[in-house]
Amino acid sequence: MGVFDEGLALPEQRLGESDEAYWGRVERLTDQVQARDEGADAPAPPDPPVCRDCGLEADRFPTRSSAWVLLEPLEPVVEVPSHLVPPFFRWLIAEDGVAWCPPGTEPAPGESCRVPHRLVCPGIDPPDPWSWLVAQRLENARRAQRLYNPPRLPEGPGDDAVTA
Ligand SMILES: [Zn+2]
Repeated sequence: MGVFDEGLALPEQRLGESDEAYWGRVERLTDQVQARDEGADAPAPPDPPVCRDCGLEADRFPTRSSAWVLLEPLEPVVEVPSHLVPPFFRWLIAEDGVAWCPPGTEPAPGESCRVPHRLVCPGIDPPDPWSWLVAQRLENARRAQRLYNPPRLPEGPGDDAVTA
């Protein structure tokens, strides 16, 4: 897509495109970006609800972004307390059967959620659900490296004498 890769810039309205068609296109693009961000890329019916990466079957739900998401089956795992699941991976099922992922909000006390299959899929590299912790760890590694391995001093003329 790339339309929204640099932010939420609206696409240009095409010459002769009606406002209705334009905003319909914007809505579809927005849905595609949301589905991508949420990892809602499950195969749509009538294809079976099977993960493309590992072949395991999961529970499939439609999403508010007009896509499909695979959530871990409730057997053997049941819904888990939301605060134990990383943000942006806490899927809820609305009364109409549509799955949705509250964007970056703190879970309500006692709230439970479903776990997306991609978070525990053995066929893909694990996503980075705690990215700020990883960034902090990398920063600390850099700081520790600097603390215990100070940069080498500039070479003086004596070094040339050793190699010559
Ligand atoms: Zn999988």
